[in-house]
Amino acid sequence: MSNPKQSKECIFCKIIEGTLPSEKVYEDDRVFAFRDISPQAKTHVLIIPKKHVVDILDVSAEDAHVFSDLLRAVQHIAPQLGIAGTGFRTVFNSGDHACQTIYHLHLHLLGGEQLGGSMVG
Ligand code: 5GP
Ligand code: ZN
Repeated sequence: MSNPKQSKECIFCKIIEGTLPSEKVYEDDRVFAFRDISPQAKTHVLIIPKKHVVDILDVSAEDAHVFSDLLRAVQHIAPQLGIAGTGFRTVFNSGDHACQTIYHLHLHLLGGEQLGGSMVG
């Protein structure tokens, strides 16, 4: 049985390795960022740790730098993509009720146009 929670079968791990294509917007030694294949806003980027972790709850104390790594990447990417001045939204989905579909931690960065006032829509 395939289990996408394991890194061997994880499509985001394959994107990091380059065995699956992506439109990369940023990379450093611990973070990779690329455009979402099904954008929910004019600008929609996924920012992921290079280390496979499933979700927020799967980040160990030793790996806690993952959170600041992802947010530091936002500080590079938002100006790079021209959305720093106009504003943007950052979202982590965790688990079924949040409709998480890829079980490799990712921070959605959305902007480039006026977004809805509700976070749940
Ligand atoms: P989630 O629903 O898990 O928070 O978000 C997963 C995101 O990954 C979705 O927005 C979806 O469009 C995106 N996605 C799924 N597969 C691929 C892919 O192969 N390439 C890219 N660039 N994005 C993907
Ligand atoms: Zn992965």
